[in-house]
Amino acid sequence: MAALRKLVWIEHDLFRGSGCSECAWVFNPSGAPTGKSFNEAVRNFESQRDKEFTLHVCADHPRAKSQSTKHDVKQDWEKLYRAAIIESDRSKLLQRIEDAEAAILERSRSLSKSPANSGKEQEAIARALHILSLLRAKK
Ligand SMILES: [Zn+2]
Repeated sequence: MAALRKLVWIEHDLFRGSGCSECAWVFNPSGAPTGKSFNEAVRNFESQRDKEFTLHVCADHPRAKSQSTKHDVKQDWEKLYRAAIIESDRSKLLQRIEDAEAAILERSRSLSKSPANSGKEQEAIARALHILSLLRAKK
């Protein structure tokens, strides 16, 4: 993974921002940029972004493969879901959505067997399914 990664602009119906060209990392600014002037805010924003980009490890943000590995890793669905959200290639988008939905349904089946402690994730799952259905309708 020592490829020449670049900070790239990702533009999508549901996400606009900077991300890594080699993995699923995207920049999520923590809070609004601060600064005494607009230019200062932009500079702060960019330096925060560049710093986080430099620090992230591509291996920690794998892109979902279209052949999803079957071993059940908890919250794997989130990676697939994220990959679907940031997929900009429309020819791959449907496959991404289907991978994510399959993982989500599998996850939600296993959650329903152990409902304790899973309320938050179930909420996230419901939201994710909703977003995916919107994405699918966009096609
Ligand atoms: Zn990366």
